[in-house]
Amino acid sequence: MNNQFQDDPSSEEEIKELDEQDIELLKLYGSGPYHNKLNTIEKDVKNLVKKVNTLSGIRESDTGLVHPSQWDLIGDRTLLKRDQPLHVARCIKIINDGSEEPKYMISIKSYARFVVGLGQKVSPTDIEEGMRIGCDQSKFSIQLPLPPKIDPTVSMMSVEEKPDVTYSDVGGCKEQIEKLREVVELPLLHPERFSRLGIDPPKGVLLYGPPGTGKTLLARAVANRTSATFIRVIGSELVQKYVGEGARLVRELFQMAKSKKSCIIFLDEIDAVGGTRFDDGQGGDNEVQRTMLELVNQLDGFDSRGNVKVMMATNRPDTLDPALMRPGRVDRKIEFGLPDLEGRTAIFEIHSRRMSCEQNIRWELLARLCPNSTGADIRSVCTEAGMFAIRARRKTVTEKDFLNAVNKVIKGYKKFSATPKYMVYN
Ligand code: ATP
Repeated sequence: MNNQFQDDPSSEEEIKELDEQDIELLKLYGSGPYHNKLNTIEKDVKNLVKKVNTLSGIRESDTGLVHPSQWDLIGDRTLLKRDQPLHVARCIKIINDGSEEPKYMISIKSYARFVVGLGQKVSPTDIEEGMRIGCDQSKFSIQLPLPPKIDPTVSMMSVEEKPDVTYSDVGGCKEQIEKLREVVELPLLHPERFSRLGIDPPKGVLLYGPPGTGKTLLARAVANRTSATFIRVIGSELVQKYVGEGARLVRELFQMAKSKKSCIIFLDEIDAVGGTRFDDGQGGDNEVQRTMLELVNQLDGFDSRGNVKVMMATNRPDTLDPALMRPGRVDRKIEFGLPDLEGRTAIFEIHSRRMSCEQNIRWELLARLCPNSTGADIRSVCTEAGMFAIRARRKTVTEKDFLNAVNKVIKGYKKFSATPKYMVYN
């Protein structure tokens, strides 16, 4: 026992000097009038708290829940209902019977059709006939307009919001850049010039030439300049196993393109689907042709002043179907030839820009040593030159490395080069 509390504090000054810890000790071990007073006050407070709690309906609970009289079951139920998942349905008809609020006929797949109204968060301008919508589970009222259903294979087709290639990354090809800008860039950036003159801008362009001459590169540069979405589709992606699948993909591709602000569809290696129609005598294997016809149909179907431009690239323009190539569908055909001396020098400079090279390398001399080479060949020369430098454990690439690389790539790989074969078609 603490000696300090054997006698209770008697005078007022003594009581004032006590701190909290002292009061606790007093409660435990103290005696006398001061101690009794403290006990009665504490009891009174406890009784009062109990009274207040019983009056307000609060009882002690082991679970931590409030008293059942305070439960808001109806409120909880409506809260749960508000966040219910929605049914996906299609609005098949808008019934406008002159009343203020139109009714909507909706169809829930393999379930039923209903005539319903709009939810609180949707306005009549949001809903169109044929649109996919989300409706609630109790009254089936329309709660949410949904975007069109696009096959995941189509939406996966590398939609690049903005490619990082610019015109300065393309060496040579000046004429081609001019032509492409006229056909693709001008209608997208200044459509009013065409409408003032009363002509329709070309809908599509065909880029043709030997492999590796920068067709894909230039298409991406155009997309960058127009800040249009760039959808790159390889022709063979549209060839499907089942009948009608390829055509459906083409339809959905154009549907997705139309939903963008402005869009460039780039169909690479179009010869995979756009080949001339033929009769194989067995009546089969027409799926590829059907896909091509859907492409023709889609090219007819969209407004040439609209926001979608189609570019196609191929190495074999002679194999394409004349129906696809006719003016009105693919109006412009741009040839990509082998780069000239000036072009080759520019391509050398472009690809060595990010390499740490020795100063005063004679790019023109190197370009002279690579006659009849494509942009891809020259890029490969630059990479090889870097490899020579790595092999010799040097940190910069010298002119000698480039000369060795020219010998290796241009002379050594000549027998693999397909360029002469493709030049026949130009
Ligand atoms: P394919 O017909 O086989 O599809 P392509 O003509 O589309 O070939 P690209 O993919 O454009 O060829 O070019 C391949 C690479 O070659 C490019 O990534 C680029 O680095 C280089 N290249 C080609 N032409 C040029 C050029 N004019 N300027 C700079 N680089 C070029």
